[in-house]
Amino acid sequence: MRGQDDTLVRFRGVEKSYDGQRYAVRHLDLDIARGEFLTLLGPSGSGKTTTLMMLAGFEQPTAGEILLDGRPIARLPPHKRGIGVVFQSYALFPHMSVAENVAFPLSVRGVARSEQARRVERALDMVRLPDLGARRPSQLSGGQQQRVALARALVFEPPLVLLDEPLGALDKQLREEMQLEIRHIHERLGVTMVYVTHDQAEALTMSDRIAVFRDGAIRQLDTPQALYERPTDAFVAGFVGENNRIAGTVAERDEDMTAIALGGGRRLWARQADAGGPGSPALLSVRPERIAVAAGSADDLGENALPATVAEVIYLGDHVRLRLALEGGVEITAKRPAAAAMAGLAPGAQVAVAWQPEHAVAFAPGD
Ligand code: ADP
Ligand code: MG
Repeated sequence: MRGQDDTLVRFRGVEKSYDGQRYAVRHLDLDIARGEFLTLLGPSGSGKTTTLMMLAGFEQPTAGEILLDGRPIARLPPHKRGIGVVFQSYALFPHMSVAENVAFPLSVRGVARSEQARRVERALDMVRLPDLGARRPSQLSGGQQQRVALARALVFEPPLVLLDEPLGALDKQLREEMQLEIRHIHERLGVTMVYVTHDQAEALTMSDRIAVFRDGAIRQLDTPQALYERPTDAFVAGFVGENNRIAGTVAERDEDMTAIALGGGRRLWARQADAGGPGSPALLSVRPERIAVAAGSADDLGENALPATVAEVIYLGDHVRLRLALEGGVEITAKRPAAAAMAGLAPGAQVAVAWQPEHAVAFAPGD
């Protein structure tokens, strides 16, 4: 367990309404550990930026408080919080050189010129832009501009850096390079980073922990692996990673497992998440890579197997994706290693699909 002293940021009962009617952030209790890489993940409008802006000091909570290093920061203006911030739009000063941009946080803090030059050089090295200090932002690519913004956020060595969708404007390849670079910088500096994205793959790649936001509240806060393997509701299961959903009715429950009845008298067991008692509607959720596909009849496979018809086989080099139609017309997707995908899996083939009960999760239908 982490001790009290390891908490750098604490949100306690924080709420925010911009118009006094609707909540942008409903109720936020969140501890951010010193040195961690925490990602706020959620769809557009779920309150991620508002949360970050309250921590940075550009917005005030309507209720509750935020503690930094154990001290309330409500009265501290942004520049006294010691927090570096990077936005999606790089917000560089166009009339200043790259070096002057990066030096800006140092000059407003009254750091001596010679020291400024030394630190700017170090920050530009860190983001791998060592020779571009004399250029104007307009002479740099989008990726380079975003590195300058990152250097500017790091140059005064803040213990906490906030990044709001910083890679949103970059193309896929550059975005993936920058994800790793930011992650490496985080590891090298030991700085605490709070990162906002709506991209679940980005969140899974970069984070120590992920807070999944929905409608101004955290639905689940966990490590990437726990979020992926043990989502606690249907929203999180659907938002993080790919998922198949099969609708049915709760037939039976024991402590950890729930049996879901489908049409045609079939029953599937799944780990219980938030499904209701017997008779309640439920969703069974299972990841495509957990689904085994075998030629032949499902009845030979016993419990937890279903008959299916192959609808489509999509070859993707290292794996194949199979679209499979279940009884009643529901379609699911299975992902199998290409080597393991056998002959006989052509469209129209009758197959059996199966998975381990513990790889499926039973949810309330929810949203
Ligand atoms: P996200 O970053 O997850 O997309 P935001 O925090 O930007 O979400 O927005 C949360 C909610 O607050 C949205 O409904 C948004 O329209 C509203 N909102 C955000 N900023 C403002 C603002 N400055 N004035 C009024 N409403 C705002
Ligand atoms: Mg936002």
